[in-house]
Amino acid sequence: MNILVLGGGGREHALAWAIKQNPKCDRLIVAPGNAGIAQIADCAAIDPNDAAAVLELCEANAVDFVVIGPEAPLAAGVADALRAQNILTFGPSAEAAKLEASKAFTKEICDACNAPTAAYARFTSAEGAKGYVREQGAPIVVKADGLAAGKGVIVAMTLDEAFNGIDEIFGGAFGSAGAEVVIEEFMEGEEASLFVLCDGENVLAVGGAQDHKRVGEGDTGPNTGGMGAYSPAPILSPEIEAKAMDEIVRPTVAEMAKRGTPFQGVLYAGLMIKDGQPRLVEYNVRFGDPECQVLMLRLGAQALDLLLACAEGRLNEVQAQWAPDHAMTVVMAAQGYPGAYEKGSVIGGLDALPEDGSRMVFHAGTSEKDGHVVATGGRVLNVTARGASLQEARDRAYEMVDAIDWPEGFCRRDIGWRALS
Ligand code: AMP
Repeated sequence: MNILVLGGGGREHALAWAIKQNPKCDRLIVAPGNAGIAQIADCAAIDPNDAAAVLELCEANAVDFVVIGPEAPLAAGVADALRAQNILTFGPSAEAAKLEASKAFTKEICDACNAPTAAYARFTSAEGAKGYVREQGAPIVVKADGLAAGKGVIVAMTLDEAFNGIDEIFGGAFGSAGAEVVIEEFMEGEEASLFVLCDGENVLAVGGAQDHKRVGEGDTGPNTGGMGAYSPAPILSPEIEAKAMDEIVRPTVAEMAKRGTPFQGVLYAGLMIKDGQPRLVEYNVRFGDPECQVLMLRLGAQALDLLLACAEGRLNEVQAQWAPDHAMTVVMAAQGYPGAYEKGSVIGGLDALPEDGSRMVFHAGTSEKDGHVVATGGRVLNVTARGASLQEARDRAYEMVDAIDWPEGFCRRDIGWRALS
């Protein structure tokens, strides 16, 4: 098969790496890709959100299967455009991608199928939202309805924080994503992510993971896109996973099918777990980044078979074969991230790393310049390793981190601390 992966981050490098292991893959193209991806695939410099450009690329290269990595092409309807041309595609329609693109829509679906989640109310004016916050008291959570690159959520410990958040969102900080605000009950507990392939009807859980949103050790400092992850997530016991599937994921998938907008792709359920009960925090409609990196390292070549079964509507025929091991990814970022950072520093030591099927450095924000790999993003490398235990996976990951020569970068040294303490 000729396979096209859309995207150019660490998630897409991990997807491309796993797909490439599978003998079904003849030719692999990634658009736009990055310096790490270029070592295993042909990179095409097109905008993955531009459906016409993606279709043209598919036609020119006789592409048989498209895997969409990030949320933006999904929300822009690229999966719809591909399926309209009968190109086999992994990823939901724009209508089904509303499970990520609109928090109010997700709440409506949860109501309709009785999925446990935080109590909430929706507002289109600051006045109404503030009145409700005053009634409910703090802590409370204020969310912009639409896609805000992970920045549209304010977990407010005081009324003033909530009011400021409401003013910021209605003041236009997130553009049209902030035309509506969802105010939610603050849920306590421990968070975990559950990844479930859905073919519109059948579902297949492909593992859990926990990430590390804060930039600083001990989960301090500002939020980021994620500084590390590990899988499996000990908090997501088989019992809790079964509950999340029965009470949250299956009812959601059934409700979407009932509405004539079946969900096909990976549903990423962000869960809050307390006293053995999972509740939904949010859905994403694509793999998490960096969670995808640990899942792909654990799944390997079979990932392609699972993605194909998903796109072809035969998930009921397949199973994920897990090795009883652990994987961890440590994100290396440019100093200054998530604030301002410099681009263009040279990263050394990558060629000498002991990469094999059980440890890999996935590139997130890199490009190639004059024969060197240079940093071009905030999050730059995802150093990922498997091990018989989480501790072993961690030791093997940091051993590679320490062999990378990049003084302009940094990482958290405590990935996995909750599970290991
Ligand atoms: P979201 O983008 O909806 O996942 O929110 C980002 C983060 O905010 C989540 O990962 C949680 O840590 C936190 N959060 C969101 N909603 C709630 C809630 N209702 N209660 C407590 N924390 C929340």
